[in-house]
Amino acid sequence: MLNFQFHNPTRIVFGKDTVPALDELIPGDARVLILYGGQSAERTGTLAEVRKALGDRAHYEFGGIEPNPSFETLTQAVEQVRFHNIDYLLAVGGGSVIDGTKFVAAAAKFVGDSWQILETVGGAVRDALPFGAVLTLSATGSEMNFNAVVTRKATQTKALFASPHVFPQFSILDPSKTFTVPARQLANGVVDAFTHVVEQYLTYPVDARVQDRFAEGLLQTLIEIGPTVVSQPPDYQSRANMMWAATMALNGLIGAGVPQDWATHLVGHELTVLHGLDHAQTLAILLPSMLDARRDGKRAKLLQYAERVWHITADSEDERIDLAIEKTRAFFEDLGVKTRLSDYGIQAEAIDGLVEQLGLHGMTRLGERQDVTLEVSRTVLEASL
Ligand code: NAP
Ligand code: FE
Repeated sequence: MLNFQFHNPTRIVFGKDTVPALDELIPGDARVLILYGGQSAERTGTLAEVRKALGDRAHYEFGGIEPNPSFETLTQAVEQVRFHNIDYLLAVGGGSVIDGTKFVAAAAKFVGDSWQILETVGGAVRDALPFGAVLTLSATGSEMNFNAVVTRKATQTKALFASPHVFPQFSILDPSKTFTVPARQLANGVVDAFTHVVEQYLTYPVDARVQDRFAEGLLQTLIEIGPTVVSQPPDYQSRANMMWAATMALNGLIGAGVPQDWATHLVGHELTVLHGLDHAQTLAILLPSMLDARRDGKRAKLLQYAERVWHITADSEDERIDLAIEKTRAFFEDLGVKTRLSDYGIQAEAIDGLVEQLGLHGMTRLGERQDVTLEVSRTVLEASL
């Protein structure tokens, strides 16, 4: 096992009808800015519940945080924070709203050009406003981690930052809040959580047995519940298991003391900025080809994945690996998430532009062995057509 520190300060309040707990979670004298996305939080009644729970605290609202939140929009929220002298933020939404709130929390306390937060991958963050979240969509794990992804539209850059200053103080996880999530986003959520686990598990073995067994348990849970999560009418227990699985998939627990990959996510970001694909669609496209192209470096873990997660017993090792990758692709497809670039109208001509963007963004040595060069990314993209 590799050396590690593990610290996760986010309080989780889990279960039905837990929004009223906001009254105990947020200081009575706080000046609160509620941040949300498009219309879903209003339409579903969640915002009304939140307003009620805040009681007579001074509170303001900032809506319009888009999926893949933009630096441009978030900068307007920072202005609101300063204008109204806000000292507490509350995110109401999915990963985009929570990530956006993390940026606003850090930028509100930042001296200088706040894009430096992204340029330094969070290293320049010294302080942030406190904030909490009401989660409405299970996918990213942002509700219990210190990562955020922000897009700068002007330069077509989707960049990540991480800082211990932007852990949510609390997150309210009410699985019934996801009952209104459209099928496409439900399926995206399963794919995103699954890929988060794979990026931390399917690297090379370091004899991290606890992390491996936790990861395998999360993958098996997602495989078991995936079909029910996306089916109608909504089933509370599978939504509850989905919500907790997605949170556990990226809260630091399974990634402590193990090598981590993240090449699928980082190449995927370029597909989102250049072609507008949903985050999870990019993962569904890239993950199978990424595992195939890197099967030598990942061999031992691919065999473990085939055996323990998919119970594959074929004689030859390569056949077991092929089957495990095929089953991964079929799992995504069965959920309704297409796994080929061509399914989204992206053809071979687009690959040069994608590789060029990766180069511009310094994505030249990705993965747990830093051996995902631009040539490897090109091979993966070509195999994903
Ligand atoms: P999202 O972008 O937050 O939301 C997707 C859509 O779902 C939005 O259109 C939203 O509508 C709708 N929605 C949310 N809750 C709903 C509900 N209860 N009922 C109906 N519609 C609802 O999706 P996400 O997958 O959670 O977040 C994706 C972002 O997170 C990407 O930018 C990705 O790069 C990032 N990410 C972050 C991490 C991390 O660790 N921080 C990890 C992976 C990915 P409204 O806008 O109308 O609310
Ligand atoms: Fe993700």
